Amino acid sequence: MKRYIKQIVVHSTATFDPKISQHYGFFHYVVERNGEIKKIHPETTVIRHIVEVDNEAIHVAYNGGRNKAGALGDTRTPVQEEALFNKLVALSVKYPAAKIIGHIELDATANCPGFNVKEWLKNYEPDINIAA
Ligand SMILES: [Zn+2]
Repeated sequence: MKRYIKQIVVHSTATFDPKISQHYGFFHYVVERNGEIKKIHPETTVIRHIVEVDNEAIHVAYNGGRNKAGALGDTRTPVQEEALFNKLVALSVKYPAAKIIGHIELDATANCPGFNVKEWLKNYEPDINIAA
């Protein structure tokens, strides 16, 4: 089924232990701490995650978002941050009508992804690394 993507929603997996992956099913992509991007579901698949937007959303998470003490927050590594940024850019090129937003912007009670997505996108400067 062709989907009209209007939202690219940024999440964390809300886990501390990087080996824990049982929550990956909630996302289309998960960015690992080493920058590896795991494709969990095809973009054509509707994932039940945030009922108001799921039909028109792609869900992208970074692995982490919880510290040792159990508190939620930004735990991204530099390579993870860059990989997440590049993935979001690629998705926004593919879906030009889509807005990139943090989960918390759809649900104020969700402390997810643990950072302000709009501010980050505005201020982040990726290392320009052009291969070949
Ligand atoms: Zn979330």
